[in-house]
Amino acid sequence: MGIRNFRSSNFRRIWGSILVNLTQRFPVALRWKHSGGGPYKAVIFDMGGVLVPSPLVVAAEWEAQNHIPSGTIGKALITGGENRPWMKYMRGEMTAAAFLQEFGRQCSEMTDSAVPVDSFLSLLTNEKTAKQFSVMTEAIRRIRAKGFKTAVLSNNFYLPSGDSFLPLDRKQFDVIVESCREGICKPDPLIYKLCLERLGVEPAESIFLDDLGQNIKAAAQLGIHTVKVGDPETALKELETYLGFPLQENIPNTCSVKKAMEIPRDSLAQYLKNLLGSQTTGPLELRQFSQGQSNLTYYVRFADRRLVLRKKPPGKRLPSAHTVVREYRIMKALADTGVPVPKVLALCEDSSVIGSPFYLMEYCSGQIYKDPSLPGMEPSQRQAIYAAMNKVLCKLHSIDIKAAGLEDYGKPGDYFQHQVQTRIKQYRATETHTIPSMERLIEWLPLHLPRTEKATVVHGDFRLNNLIFHPEKAEVLCVLDWELSTLGDPLADVAYNCLAHYLPPNFHILKGLSDCDLTQQGIPTAEEYFRMYCLNRGLPPVENWNFYMAFSSFHVATILQDVYKRSLTGQASSSAAEQSGKKAEFMSNLGWDFAVKEGFRLFRDLPATKPLARSYCTWARPNLLLSANGTRRSCAKFSEPPETHGILVISPETLSTPVQKLDHKLKQLVEDCIYPVEQEPRNHQISERRWALPSLMEELKVK
Ligand SMILES: [Mg+2]
Repeated sequence: MGIRNFRSSNFRRIWGSILVNLTQRFPVALRWKHSGGGPYKAVIFDMGGVLVPSPLVVAAEWEAQNHIPSGTIGKALITGGENRPWMKYMRGEMTAAAFLQEFGRQCSEMTDSAVPVDSFLSLLTNEKTAKQFSVMTEAIRRIRAKGFKTAVLSNNFYLPSGDSFLPLDRKQFDVIVESCREGICKPDPLIYKLCLERLGVEPAESIFLDDLGQNIKAAAQLGIHTVKVGDPETALKELETYLGFPLQENIPNTCSVKKAMEIPRDSLAQYLKNLLGSQTTGPLELRQFSQGQSNLTYYVRFADRRLVLRKKPPGKRLPSAHTVVREYRIMKALADTGVPVPKVLALCEDSSVIGSPFYLMEYCSGQIYKDPSLPGMEPSQRQAIYAAMNKVLCKLHSIDIKAAGLEDYGKPGDYFQHQVQTRIKQYRATETHTIPSMERLIEWLPLHLPRTEKATVVHGDFRLNNLIFHPEKAEVLCVLDWELSTLGDPLADVAYNCLAHYLPPNFHILKGLSDCDLTQQGIPTAEEYFRMYCLNRGLPPVENWNFYMAFSSFHVATILQDVYKRSLTGQASSSAAEQSGKKAEFMSNLGWDFAVKEGFRLFRDLPATKPLARSYCTWARPNLLLSANGTRRSCAKFSEPPETHGILVISPETLSTPVQKLDHKLKQLVEDCIYPVEQEPRNHQISERRWALPSLMEELKVK
């Protein structure tokens, strides 16, 4: 089947279904007002600089390669009035050979040296250079699908072969007006009139797109609506506003591929053909996901397939080749477990294909909620979104590691001990100044490790904006970004998932909820979310969840400190990176806040009559607390404690009467004065006045 046949039948069906999908799936698409009986009936496109690259852009590249003074071609194109070689050539008054001779002479006179203009014309008309922009191909299809007429109004010329230069699929246009065939060229008003006449529309019923101001001006003088084209994508956005419907496929969170991040398209197209079968053929479209991740992520459309490609970034700071393989492996393993993951298609570890290892997966369209406060939703909808997120996390943590073939996906056991030590080491390597709360956490965390931990698959970056939701219901379609996944304690994921609750709304890596009235909004509090998790998984409630929150905050603080350190050494230069220093401090203060809360909880939970159960590693260091004979040294001063109170004198009844009184007074103070105002210092920490001493502290000191 030829490309043209394929395009005409299948593409219409595909674009049609995408349009339907778009209006169904993306709320933004619903905002479009359809013009219906609007004023426009036709869209007229210039060719060079609108549908295919501009001759001036091609010239600049060619001049650089051939050491010709920059701007020579551009100047020659506009110098010499109506009868300059370029104009005569475009009006079809000259053959290619005659043009090259005259144009070559003109350029040589300008530069005082020989200019090989024939190689410029070859490059300009080369099929690789003169390839229609894929965004334009798509836009034209959409315009025609809505019943609008399309035309190309080109200033073009005859090639040496005798054909005119028109590297376009003619089927895209109702009318084609070529200057070399008509003997007239823009900005002559006659050629616009000719085009309108053939289209059968009035000037005011048409929109004209061109990259040159003089051509735009001439069209506007005739009453044609105009769009000046700088960058094709931006021009299409403007055109969308006039036509009233979307012209580009809405792939949220993507942008055109940045020059430094281009991947070899021909090589990738060949790979895709081999992978998907030689029947799959058509234009290859690439877009880049803008979300900051260490692996580069691309949207790939090849024929009717919509895929996502993840590749190792250039450079070797992170062992990311490894994470590409791991991501592929985990998603493949989870495919049949009920955890919603994108379907992976292939892993290519051969760097010769596109320069580094990569894998491909199916693109999953849906809704990504970037703001955890879920603006514009009803409280019940928010509640449902949070419940769905919780359910997926439970599902992930419930999978049978052995059955999924993931037993060797991480080191089992001692997850937190290992994590805490690794993070401390990482922090020390990136430390720039002393952060007091960081020092306290470094001391506190190893002493408060959970006594027991489970080993499950851990996502490592589980948060709302790494999930793709069904656009109309609270259902998770896909969990993304498995870069940090491993085997470990599942509560690490739950705590990390709750971190947003404590962050301000403008926290740059993760939008926060600390300003929200959660109950009114229908969003579960972090405590409720933890409880929901335990209930869903049939686990007893987690008493020491503040430990997990403290660890999560500490973890993120170490990451931010790393970014900050790199910003100082010039490896990461954005202003956001420089802000990371302050954010690292904020996170570690938050972590210490959780540690203090955990301390209060332990204190509050001290049994009034029973000896303290040894639940935490703190108590597993008897030498610090107890003397050789098993009683705490300082006890000797006290009256003999009753036998039933055991050897740990932390039970208040074992203390002397004045100390017991003091203990009672302290507990009362905490109950009356500290618990009721717990939120205030946290609010202060994130307020603009955070660097000033909070008055509350002074008041409490007095008490
Ligand atoms: Mg042009």
